[in-house]
Amino acid sequence: MGEKIDKQLELDKRYLRMALIWAENSYCLRRQVGALIVKDNRIISDGFNGTPSGFENVCEDENNVTKPYVLHAEANAITKVAASSNSSKDATIYVTSAPCIECAKLIIQSGIRRVVYSEKYRVEDGLKLLERAGITLDYIGITE
Ligand SMILES: [Zn+2]
Repeated sequence: MGEKIDKQLELDKRYLRMALIWAENSYCLRRQVGALIVKDNRIISDGFNGTPSGFENVCEDENNVTKPYVLHAEANAITKVAASSNSSKDATIYVTSAPCIECAKLIIQSGIRRVVYSEKYRVEDGLKLLERAGITLDYIGITE
């Protein structure tokens, strides 16, 4: 039993590290976030924060404020599943930082059952909403 738990933790850490590396794809300057959606030990989607397809690859305006149409990593990963033949039902999402409330709503509606994140965020309303929806939350600190 203990060994099984350790194995899952090792896998979780590995996926989180992959999400962290994936975040490097983000061209956003203020904050880079990566997300992976895993189902039955298979990565079915990925995402990082950025502007919608076809838009300029710049996240911040001239005042260094993040543009309102920048999609978060979780939203990009979830919408990518929607455009594929996969289903995120009962999947796990690995995200490098705690989901915000907007992403929490998407996570709930997409049928994802578990969220593993590695960085806490000052506003915790997203986590609270996920908790309320009965989604399993696991925080794993990753220090690179
Ligand atoms: Zn978000």
